[in-house]
Amino acid sequence: MNHGRSPVIVIGAGWAGLAAAVALVDAGESVIVIEAAPQAGGRARALTLSFDGSPVEVDNGQHLLIGAYRDTLALMRRIGVDPAQVMARVPMNLIGPGGFRLQAATLPAPFHLLNLAIGLITARGLPWSHRWSMIRLMGRLKREGPAACPADMTVSQWLARQGQPARLITRIWAPLCIGALNTPPDEACARTFARVLEDALLGDAGAADFLMPHGTLSDILPNPALSWLQERGVQVRMRCVGRTVRPGLQGDWLVDTDAGALSASRVILAVQPYQAARLLDQTLADAQRAPLEAFEYEPIATVWLGWGSPLRLPAITMLDEDIATGQHGQWLFARTAPHEGPVRSLAGVVVSAAGRADTQVGPLAQAVAAQVAAQLGCPLPEHARAIVDKRATIRCSPGRPRIDADSLAPHCPGIFLAGDWVWHAYPATIESAVRSGLAAADHCLRSVPVQA
Ligand SMILES: Cc1cc2nc3c(=O)[nH]c(=O)nc-3n(C[C@H](O)[C@H](O)[C@H](O)COP(=O)(O)OP(=O)(O)OC[C@H]3O[C@@H](n4cnc5c(N)ncnc54)[C@H](O)[C@@H]3O)c2cc1C
Repeated sequence: MNHGRSPVIVIGAGWAGLAAAVALVDAGESVIVIEAAPQAGGRARALTLSFDGSPVEVDNGQHLLIGAYRDTLALMRRIGVDPAQVMARVPMNLIGPGGFRLQAATLPAPFHLLNLAIGLITARGLPWSHRWSMIRLMGRLKREGPAACPADMTVSQWLARQGQPARLITRIWAPLCIGALNTPPDEACARTFARVLEDALLGDAGAADFLMPHGTLSDILPNPALSWLQERGVQVRMRCVGRTVRPGLQGDWLVDTDAGALSASRVILAVQPYQAARLLDQTLADAQRAPLEAFEYEPIATVWLGWGSPLRLPAITMLDEDIATGQHGQWLFARTAPHEGPVRSLAGVVVSAAGRADTQVGPLAQAVAAQVAAQLGCPLPEHARAIVDKRATIRCSPGRPRIDADSLAPHCPGIFLAGDWVWHAYPATIESAVRSGLAAADHCLRSVPVQA
């Protein structure tokens, strides 16, 4: 129930802000959401490209969701979206260079823990010594858990300590680490990587399944969540930029926006850390703001490829990356092509840690198009467009700052943080964004609001 006090303002309508807003509304709070962009979804949303003058709906970046995204799936159901209707669920199936193929078995619980082992035993293009190394590592992870990884260890150090062969690291572990943490193994946090492996490969039945949206990311959560909020009376102000968050005169918080000041009993900052630091520039002392400014970021480029003829592309392919020879693409995802227009086949190719690659979008797109045609033996795509997000995620290093939803409470009671960087047990993903939003809402609900 809203007791007539000032609303809670959620700044940012990415997946974290939307999760927080839904949880607050569920608890009866009055909520205002402000979002700088014209659309919701933040870094995980739809985008329209023009291929030969025809609009093609893609995502701002190619994403992979997996069955272990428990809270994301629950949030979708909460707002009336049936995940089974909007996404295909495909058992883990990796195809890679040199005839490599690993398809997890699909035994139900309680036998599901054997699915990866069976997949490894029946895999193709992988020496037996590598299969046993992987099974040994997963067995040790199952016995000891991720907490057994020293907190300051990198993925490269951990894999070496586990006796993983160098060739296996280059072929399998490094692409998985970059794909999951968007951080190269030499710099990535071993404990976080181990947690992702544990949750996805040793978790519940179906945790490792790939979830592939039939349409765009905006269709599966951001747009339905916005409608759900608006139907429940939430003011959603798009194209509204928050400038500062500062204390009001009556114990409330004032959010200055480019459309005027808003008073709030509590505020959730569901933005990236550098944006939170900017919003609190006048409110936090330098030393209090420093952890927000201490994050480093990693880019991701997505190259969208379109062909004028229908092709049978595998759902997900690991590409043979070799930056020295201009092979920048790492993962190719086949996407549903538009029903009309010049594009009959569509794919998104991920180039993560793109700062190490050629980030000039034109040459990058052409290089990836040529790489895909050569490695998949398909025609050269007629259309290729690269989109680079220079701050796609925080760098998931062992030394990254650990900040919680209520970390600012001692300095600014009533201000809470959300975002993929706040759920620090996980790398920066959609699932961590959603969990952080739910945690921020929970802290907000348990805090004593001001009576403005
Ligand atoms: C190219 C790419 C590929 C990725 N691949 C994957 C993947 O395969 N799997 C996966 O799980 N995750 C992936 N991610 C990460 C995932 O997209 C993010 O973890 C997630 O979207 C973060 O959501 P968020 O709500 O925390 O932040 P954001 O999405 O950044 O949302 C913040 C929102 O706040 C708004 N905002 C910022 N400042 C202000 C202000 N002052 N006033 C008002 N509004 C403001 C922004 O416009 C934005 O909408 C990828 C990210 C990128 C960029």
